[in-house]
Amino acid sequence: MSRTKRGALMRPLRRGVCRYCGCTQNNPCFLAGISMPGVPVVPLPCSWRDKSQAVCTNPRCITAHRAVVSAHKATRQARLQIFKARRRRSR
Ligand SMILES: [Zn+2]
Ligand SMILES: [Zn+2]
Repeated sequence: MSRTKRGALMRPLRRGVCRYCGCTQNNPCFLAGISMPGVPVVPLPCSWRDKSQAVCTNPRCITAHRAVVSAHKATRQARLQIFKARRRRSR
């Protein structure tokens, strides 16, 4: 594996770049605007979902983020269960 490739894999989360769609403040993705009768739908640029600026308000990114967060939680809980079980057994 080349050095640059490894660097790309271990790339830390960059502030200001959506980790799911890769959009930035200067290059936001556009979301469907709110449609109202008689008013043409204007696409809205996305904004940041939180202060860390790693997830934008694109519904697809929010859904992806939710899945990642719940997977993280499940993993943590599973690890905790294993840890507890081990402790119980060693006693
Ligand atoms: Zn995004
Ligand atoms: Zn976006």
